[in-house]
Amino acid sequence: MRDLSGTTGLLSLNTATLGPKRTLKDAVEGCLRHGIEGISPWRDKIAEIGLTEAERMIRRSGLTVTGVCRGGMFPAADAEGRRLALEDNRRAIDEAAALGAACLVLVVGGLPAGSKDLKGARRQVEDGLAASLDYARSAGVSLAIEPLHPMYAADRACVNTLGQALDLCDRLGSGIGVAVDVYHVWWDPELDGQIARAGRQDRLLAYHVCDWMVPTADLLLDRGMMGDGVIDLPGIRRSMEEAGYAGLCEVEIFSANNWWPKSIDEILAVMVERGKLL
Ligand code: ZN
Repeated sequence: MRDLSGTTGLLSLNTATLGPKRTLKDAVEGCLRHGIEGISPWRDKIAEIGLTEAERMIRRSGLTVTGVCRGGMFPAADAEGRRLALEDNRRAIDEAAALGAACLVLVVGGLPAGSKDLKGARRQVEDGLAASLDYARSAGVSLAIEPLHPMYAADRACVNTLGQALDLCDRLGSGIGVAVDVYHVWWDPELDGQIARAGRQDRLLAYHVCDWMVPTADLLLDRGMMGDGVIDLPGIRRSMEEAGYAGLCEVEIFSANNWWPKSIDEILAVMVERGKLL
């Protein structure tokens, strides 16, 4: 496993970590001030300044783009909704290509409004992935399915384990893999084995870190800073690296009450400090 002591770590900043009010410029400049090597922008932050300006700013910074967040959200109540979702995914692929991102992160979507058909939603996800994959391949963008914790199956993602995501990848072929986010998968008794499986197939495209707080006050917006919760982060990173993952550790913390109110420099200073303990 790579030794992080005495370094600024192997960190990438997911722009969500700074909170919704901070701009892409804030994030890029913060990374440069704190020696953070990578960035992963959410698309709303790209849209605020436009893709051309975002591309110029990131390329000039020299930061590695570990991902673009996010595509996905495939299931819809009707054909028009599904068509719009595919269209949006093609735009997301274009953005990831323009930024030279290591992958486009996919939060695949949950149940359409009013539906109880989970199996149907999962079929729609697979269809949506299949329909997007050729476009992604031709754009040179890898698609990264991010399995989400099962508590989000209804409203965000009905792909909930790494094993389930990798089964999809097996059926879909090349150009698609997984984003491993510790917040979503740390509890999975099959985690190590599935990480190893993903590594053997060259499907480990991104690694997202934060921590699981006990108690968790809000299931969406109370993620912890690494070290403040109960996730065995060194253990999971060891599994990732033994499986061949050599990329950065992307810090993605949604924390409305604890971290987002702090100054950018405080968030990033703590992130870099904790990054040495990953
Ligand atoms: Zn994530």
